[in-house]
Amino acid sequence: MTINLGTANEFIARHIGPRSADEQAMLAALGFESLQAMTAAVIPDSIKGTSVLGGHDGQSEADALADLKAIAGKNQLFKNYIGQGYYNTHTPAPILRNLLENPAWYTAYTPYQPEISQGRLEALLNFQTLISDLTGLPIANASLLDEATAAAEAMTFCKRLSKNKAGHAFFASSHCHPQTLDVLRTRAEPLGIEVVVGDERELTDVSSFFGALLQYPASNGDVFDYRELVQRFHGANALVAVAADLLALTLLTPPGEFDADVAIGSAQRFGVPLGFGGPHAAYFATRDAFKRDMPGRLVGVSIDRFGKTALRLAMQTREQHIRREKATSNICTAQVLLANIASMFAVYHGPAGLKRIAERTHALTAILAAGFEQLGVKVVTRAYFDTLTLATGDATARLHELARAQRINLRQIDAAHLGLSLDETSTQADVETLWRLFAEGKAVPAFDSLAATTASRLPAALLRQSAILEHPVFNRYHSETELMRYLRRLADKDLALDRSMIPLGSCTMKLNAASEMIPVTWAEFGNLHPFAPAEQSQGYLQMTTELEAMLCAATGYDAVSLQPNAGSQGEYAGLLAIRAYHRSRGEGHRDICLIPSSAHGTNPATAHMAGMRVVVTACDARGNVDVEDLRAKAIEHRDRLAAIMITYPSTHGVFEEAIGEICAIIHDNGGQVYIDGANMNAMVGLCAPGKFGGDVSHLNLHKTFCIPHGGGGPGVGPIGVKSHLAPFLPGHATLENTEGAVCAAPFGSASILPITWMYIRMMGGAGLKRASQMAILNANYIARRLEEHYPVLYTGGNGLVAHECILDLRPLKDTSGISVDDVAKRLIDFGFHAPTMSFPVAGTLMIEPTESESKEELDRFCDAMIQIREEIRAVENGTLDKDDNPLKNAPHTAAELVGEWAHGYSREQAVYPLPSLVEAKYWPPVGRVDNVFGDRNLVCACPSIESYQDA
Ligand SMILES: *Cc1c(COP(=O)(O)O)cnc(C)c1O
Repeated sequence: MTINLGTANEFIARHIGPRSADEQAMLAALGFESLQAMTAAVIPDSIKGTSVLGGHDGQSEADALADLKAIAGKNQLFKNYIGQGYYNTHTPAPILRNLLENPAWYTAYTPYQPEISQGRLEALLNFQTLISDLTGLPIANASLLDEATAAAEAMTFCKRLSKNKAGHAFFASSHCHPQTLDVLRTRAEPLGIEVVVGDERELTDVSSFFGALLQYPASNGDVFDYRELVQRFHGANALVAVAADLLALTLLTPPGEFDADVAIGSAQRFGVPLGFGGPHAAYFATRDAFKRDMPGRLVGVSIDRFGKTALRLAMQTREQHIRREKATSNICTAQVLLANIASMFAVYHGPAGLKRIAERTHALTAILAAGFEQLGVKVVTRAYFDTLTLATGDATARLHELARAQRINLRQIDAAHLGLSLDETSTQADVETLWRLFAEGKAVPAFDSLAATTASRLPAALLRQSAILEHPVFNRYHSETELMRYLRRLADKDLALDRSMIPLGSCTMKLNAASEMIPVTWAEFGNLHPFAPAEQSQGYLQMTTELEAMLCAATGYDAVSLQPNAGSQGEYAGLLAIRAYHRSRGEGHRDICLIPSSAHGTNPATAHMAGMRVVVTACDARGNVDVEDLRAKAIEHRDRLAAIMITYPSTHGVFEEAIGEICAIIHDNGGQVYIDGANMNAMVGLCAPGKFGGDVSHLNLHKTFCIPHGGGGPGVGPIGVKSHLAPFLPGHATLENTEGAVCAAPFGSASILPITWMYIRMMGGAGLKRASQMAILNANYIARRLEEHYPVLYTGGNGLVAHECILDLRPLKDTSGISVDDVAKRLIDFGFHAPTMSFPVAGTLMIEPTESESKEELDRFCDAMIQIREEIRAVENGTLDKDDNPLKNAPHTAAELVGEWAHGYSREQAVYPLPSLVEAKYWPPVGRVDNVFGDRNLVCACPSIESYQDA
């Protein structure tokens, strides 16, 4: 008998759903002999063979994890007192295990289908309630990307709403975090906003300002009393935004109570690891009167078909997918998973627990300061919460060195000052270690005697009088058993990838493999401060450098920036690069951005933010860019043409033959080509945007490259560029290129980058190419199985689609009255999340199965769609009533089954329309949600328990 070493890498076959027999069957159904033959037929000749990926082998899960562990080990975990917006925190173990590391939470999609999202919507409503309570402002959104971009959103928000229409400048306090000021400058410039950075105590004339940003407590630690200043700004019709620390707000008068118009900040220190800068949830809160101008998503309370309380996303008409370049912001993916962690941190600790953490942190800081004073160290900060600035003069550099020798990081302020911030994790031993460090031979103060005599250093006039978090949800889950069950109960209400396929077109809901996820919560990645000295983050540097090279290979671009923390931010960084490039050539007047009518809403919203004018170009009857219209508009605007933003394969799910010609038209007329890379899952290993005409693209790592959607974030939106744009990639104060940060941290959401690194490492070039081919095969198989039941709206010249397909349901509306909404809701009764609805074409469903779904799951989905078509036929021919039918009444809840059944169809048909469902049934917790009611009666914080009962 011979021994067989075989292959150790089974990952590719784990990641890809169909088995080889299934693959053959699907190919046969499409009339192809092989995957190669199918690929050859799908990819247009003009771009065939442009991929530069190579066919190298992937690594096994065990080997890739071992290699990454070795790289992670090059990060050095020092004790951090750097602060500056990022603080150590204890992620409560039950939240780590049952939420952060739980696929029921992290594989969920954005809650656009509220009936299958009540769990995460409730967690987000808790987040909004938490933020609203702590800031003292009535309306808070369901998270933004980071504190710095939230500040930038606040700036443009003030601009929109200020009555000082002549005001052209935005005042930003020099006491704001430096990274916030950097992002503000980046975001202000293209809009022609002047950012005036200064010390608010020296302000004389405020008449030129439409708005202001203050930091509370200030970046250097001071707690300033802003009450009079806010009135002065208001007197000049300027609005005031305050960047506030949530933990401090448990003890301090909240911004809403000193009349601030906006509060923004980070929820990181509520249980979310530092992660070298992200991902963390930022928050944004404002007055009720301003709610319609609020950026980001907002969860609201409404009712379902039975009048029962139900949650859903509110006021979506503000958002970019509807208002496009007139939207309040380009934010799409936000930070839902991280917002949910922060909200559960508050649920678990409760108001008393949070105050205890804050009081303890403050007490240790005050004792530390008292000890410093005893040692003759000059503490500059007078009234503070958790942060001290020390005047250390000539000793500064030496003290930093001494600290580092003991694996301690202090904040580097300047040559004569250093800073330090304490946090939830600080202890008496830490305080004593710090004293010893500064004592330099002198006797170390006695902790206990100082503790007995030290008074609070919070300003008495600013002590918080109002109660926080009185809602029952923050007062009933304080034992681990209760919290564990609450998290489970919420997760059980939702449909995520751990239960069934989520066939969302354009969003690529593929497998997020456990091996990819495991490194995210390694301490070596989780506990690094983004501003730690570079020599401590060598592991991150190696991982990000390797990842940049991997993404260059996957896209054909020459350089990559990992900084943008969502696709929308990548778009923004990409357009800024184009803008800077034109300026560098003396063509700064180029400001027209052509955008095909089929584009995703973030495209026009982003172009507007980048100071460009949007010119929409037409699509033809087949969904392709109308090349002649495009050519005409490019020529008409040739003197001012800056760019085109085009998605490829198109948002219609087709590899357009004309892409090469389109790129050439733009280049011939002096413009640059931005290829939106959201559909990269159809291209990796097959063709490369950087080689067929693109100058820059963003990738959505949370789509193509396996970062989970988290229920609506986190995301990562790196951009790849050709070499001529590389000098204009975003920089950061901590990097070689210090200019043009688009995000607070140098590598954006750094701690989730290992997911993509693992994916690419394990798949190898050959595996990635196979994944793209299988994604295309799965989509075409679905299109083929469903086309006789629902017309497939667009195909390429060869009759094939790319990695997604659009089903046209509009004719059914006329013949049966059944809408795309009804079909989407009926799918819930079959245990499925609906496909993308009405994008890019109203009245259609866009289905993207991804390579990770097995043929069995595809068939299960197709069977459901076909059964639904039969039901529609029964409505068409009158067998089912046109109003009282299983589609109009979908989804059906368990509660509806008990009691009288008054429908013209059976209970069985309602909830078990296919026999297979008896075995595994998902029960929606609410019936169809009434959106109009919710927007008319807007409630965006936890309603009282009584109101649940009344309803
Ligand atoms: C998802 C998507 C975006 C936006 O990306 P986010 O990460 O959600 O900001 C942009 N364009 C297209 C085509 C998309 O599908």
